[in-house]
Amino acid sequence: MDSLTPEFVGRYYDQTSQLFELMSSANIHYGYWPEDKQELSLVAAQELLTEMMIQRMRLPATAHLLDVGCGLGHPAMRISRETGCRVTGVTVSQVQVDQGNQRAAAAGLGERVRFQYADAMSLPFEDGAFQAAWALESLLHMPARAQVLREMRRVVVPGGRIGISDMIYRTPLTNDEASFIRGAFLMQSAISLPDYRALLAESGLEVEEVLDISTNTLPTLPHLMKSFEHHHETLRAAMGEAAMSQLREAWVQAAELYRRSLGYVLIIARRG
Ligand code: SAH
Repeated sequence: MDSLTPEFVGRYYDQTSQLFELMSSANIHYGYWPEDKQELSLVAAQELLTEMMIQRMRLPATAHLLDVGCGLGHPAMRISRETGCRVTGVTVSQVQVDQGNQRAAAAGLGERVRFQYADAMSLPFEDGAFQAAWALESLLHMPARAQVLREMRRVVVPGGRIGISDMIYRTPLTNDEASFIRGAFLMQSAISLPDYRALLAESGLEVEEVLDISTNTLPTLPHLMKSFEHHHETLRAAMGEAAMSQLREAWVQAAELYRRSLGYVLIIARRG
């Protein structure tokens, strides 16, 4: 398989962002189902996860947030709309950059929310350029979490908040499983929650909150698969029948592996 370079990951998102949006929403991340609200739709659950992060970032209107791996820019626009903050988002997909900037302009947020092409492993920003940074479900794609965390820490002011939503493993993966999720989720490096905590500490970040939401995110893949079938005709026209059945098979396996061994965590930390 191709190695997961930023260019490869970027091309993947160039090709798939709008398909993900069709199947769910412009939030390209998992959903959160509260224990007593299992009936939530995928879109509502994705919005809820975004909202949980927004609340936890506690940004004043004067803040400038860096969004690391911004996707189509939906979470960035939402936090800016809700708090008044400025956001700069980076992604390795040029399609996402263009879409994000068009959407921000159309929403009247063009002055406050901007997207640009940049590799998070080496951020093109000065030390302390931002009051806060977040990375929603993007660190899993990157060659080294430690390097990205160092970069995020460097570009926020001392005391600045860093928010992360990311996939973890709950039980150790076999080599075959690790290589499967590399292909299915483009996940470069699987990490356990204890290792994550150690990594945050080594990166000079003070943890405020770690929320294991593995159970609450479980309905995501089953919902996505249902939506995949629902949009069968459009997807077949976009990707062809062979690619569709490959993807279907991969998702069945992925959902099973997720249920058995994977999980999801929200982290709020501060630059010490
Ligand atoms: N945070 C967004 C999108 C998550 S999808 C949301 O929640 O909707 C993962 C994102 O990470 C994509 O935008 C992808 O381009 C970005 N990404 C992956 N590797 C990256 C890298 N090395 N540098 C910057 N962005 C990267």
